[in-house]
Amino acid sequence: PIVPVRGNIKFENVSFTYPDTGIQALKNISFEIEQGQFVAIIGRTGSGKSTLANLLMRMYDVNQGKIKMDGEAIDSLDLRHYRSQFGFVPQEVFLFSDTIKNNIAFGLDKVNEEEVIEAAKNAAVYQNIINFDLKFETMLGERGITLSGGQKQRVSIARALIKEPKVLIFDDCLSAVDTRTEEEILTNLGKVMKGKTSILIAHRISTIKNANKILVLEDGRIIEQGTHQDL
Ligand code: ATP
Repeated sequence: PIVPVRGNIKFENVSFTYPDTGIQALKNISFEIEQGQFVAIIGRTGSGKSTLANLLMRMYDVNQGKIKMDGEAIDSLDLRHYRSQFGFVPQEVFLFSDTIKNNIAFGLDKVNEEEVIEAAKNAAVYQNIINFDLKFETMLGERGITLSGGQKQRVSIARALIKEPKVLIFDDCLSAVDTRTEEEILTNLGKVMKGKTSILIAHRISTIKNANKILVLEDGRIIEQGTHQDL
């Protein structure tokens, strides 16, 4: 059925093994994210954080257990519509050989200049863009300029924010951004995502102090969950 998601997410005893390598990346994971919560996921490299995000985005089907959105098993929902409800910023940024504007507005039916500017501001990349001669018309890639790692991440964040998604997933996408810019983005995020669900996969503890809930993953299991104060 086609109904907009509200953003209540539940993992029920979810296990997942990558079919090609046989690596069990998640082991009996259970947790709930209430609509509107800001949840952070931390854990060492290889602990299963990206896998968790990828399963929620339905890149793979879970082997055991269930993931539910607003009480419905996600594999029973229309895939295209389901994915359209998310702003997903993957770990590996992908940009096209196209203008900055089109990179930010990627996937939208029509490009609204004001919305592109707003998204760029919220992603703290507006000032960088304005400093280029051609501003939002600047070409990226082979026929254009090369952005820094942090600028690429912020263009990718702007692309997720412009969709005004019901659920936002940031997979470790602030790694190349300095601490001050990170704070700026998180403050803006707090405003745009008010009442919406956001999931942030992070390495730095400083990134997640405002989270409603923190999940700590280790070797495919949740070893702790709570607030910044609790942990
Ligand atoms: P990082 O912080 O380095 O991004 P992570 O916590 O996100 O790590 P995952 O990327 O979820 O961890 O990896 C969990 C396990 O699954 C690892 O052992 C990894 O090697 C394996 N894995 C991840 N992606 C794949 C894949 N596409 N195919 C096969 N195995 C994978």
